[in-house]
Amino acid sequence: MTHSFFTHLECSRPCGAPILNPRERHHLCRCGAPLLARYDLDAARIWSRHSLKDRAPNMWRYRELMPVFDGEVPVTLGEGLTPLVHATRLGAKLGLERLYVKDESLNPTNSFKARGQSAAITRARALGVTTVSVPSAGNAGNAMAAYAACAGLAAKVFLPRDVKTPFVRECVLYGADVTLVDGFITDAARAAAEAGASLGWYDVSTLKEPYRIEGKKTMAYELAEQMEWEWPDWIVYPTGGGTGMVGMWKAFDEIERLGWVAPGRRPRMVSVQAEGCAPIVRAFENGAESATPWENPATVADGLRVPRAIGDFLILRAVRESGGTAIAVPDAAMVEGMLELGGLEGISAAPEGGAALAAIRKLVSDGVIRSRDRVVLFNTGGALKYLDALPS
Ligand SMILES: *Cc1c(COP(=O)(O)O)cnc(C)c1O
Repeated sequence: MTHSFFTHLECSRPCGAPILNPRERHHLCRCGAPLLARYDLDAARIWSRHSLKDRAPNMWRYRELMPVFDGEVPVTLGEGLTPLVHATRLGAKLGLERLYVKDESLNPTNSFKARGQSAAITRARALGVTTVSVPSAGNAGNAMAAYAACAGLAAKVFLPRDVKTPFVRECVLYGADVTLVDGFITDAARAAAEAGASLGWYDVSTLKEPYRIEGKKTMAYELAEQMEWEWPDWIVYPTGGGTGMVGMWKAFDEIERLGWVAPGRRPRMVSVQAEGCAPIVRAFENGAESATPWENPATVADGLRVPRAIGDFLILRAVRESGGTAIAVPDAAMVEGMLELGGLEGISAAPEGGAALAAIRKLVSDGVIRSRDRVVLFNTGGALKYLDALPS
C-alpha cells in the first residue's frame, strides 16, 4: 500500500508552540490559530507524478501527501478529480480564450465540501471518535452527514434557522440529527460547541479542525495535473470560511517542493464575496492583516454568509502573496452568473459559482484579467439546492 509522508501538526501562525502529535485529537493551537498538517516533504520527493496515471479517479490519488497513516482506509465516496471544463462559449462572451470551469458540483452531495469532510471523517474515525458535529450554512453539514453515515459515526448538524429546506432534508436523508439555530453560522457554531462540550463530540468546524483543509487542497493538485503541470494565471474562488483558498495556497508550496511544477509564478488568487457579506474584501481594501466581523450578513449564496472567518489572516496572506485581489459582487449578478453558466455551458452552478463569474466579468472589464490569460473559475457547488434563487 502507498505510504503517506504525514508527520505532525503545526501552528499556522506560527507562535512557537511545540508541534503536535496527529495520533491525538487536536483542534486549534493553544494561541487560537488553526493547525496545519505537515509532511516530510524532503522524503516525499521520491514520489513521482508519473505514478498518478494508474490511480483511482478520486482525491485520495494524492495519498502520499494526505493525512493518513499506514493501514488506515480513507472514508471515500469518490470525491475529487472533478472535470476542468474549457468554457468556450462563455469565454467568447467574456472575451477570454482560456476560461476553464473547475466543476465541483459533481462531487458527492453536490459541492466541494465533500473533499474536506472525506479527509476530516477519515481522521475522526481513525482517532476513535463516535460522534461528530458541525455548524454549517448547508453544504458542509450535508457532506459531513454523508461521510459520517459511510463511516458509521453519529452526526449532529447545526444550521441557521432560515437555511433553505433542501439542506435540512439532505441531512435527514443521511441520518444526521439537525438543530436549527436563530442567527448565522457563527451562532450555530456557539450552539454546537455548547451542546457537544460535555458529551465529547468531535467538532469538524471550518479550520477549527485541521484536516478539512487537507481535503480541499487537493483541488490544487488536480489543477496542476489537469493543466499538465503549469499553473493558470488566475484562480477565482468564492470565499466563505476560506478552507479552499488556504488549502490551495498550502498545496502550491507542497507541489513546488515536490518538484512537480516549477517554483516562482503561482496563480493570482481572487477571493470573491457577496456585497452583503464581504469581511475579507473590506480587510483587503483596508490593508488589514485580519478581518473585522461583518454585521447583519445577507446573501443568497449561503456558503458566503460567513461574517467572521477564523483563518482570515491566512486567506488575506494568500491573496496578497499571490498578487491577487478580493472583490464583492451583488446577489443579482450571482443569479445572472448561474443562468449564464447553465445556458451557455450546461453547468449547474450554485450562486457561489455565479459569483465567481460576476467577479471575472468585472476584472475583465477593468482590464485586470486580459484576453489571453488562463482563468479558472471554481464552481463550488450545484444549483439544485438553490432553485428558489432562480426566476420561475
Ligand atoms: C462552503 C462553500 C463556499 C465557501 O467555501 P470556503 O472554502 O469555506 O471558503 C463556497 N461555495 C459553496 C457552494 C460552499 O458550500
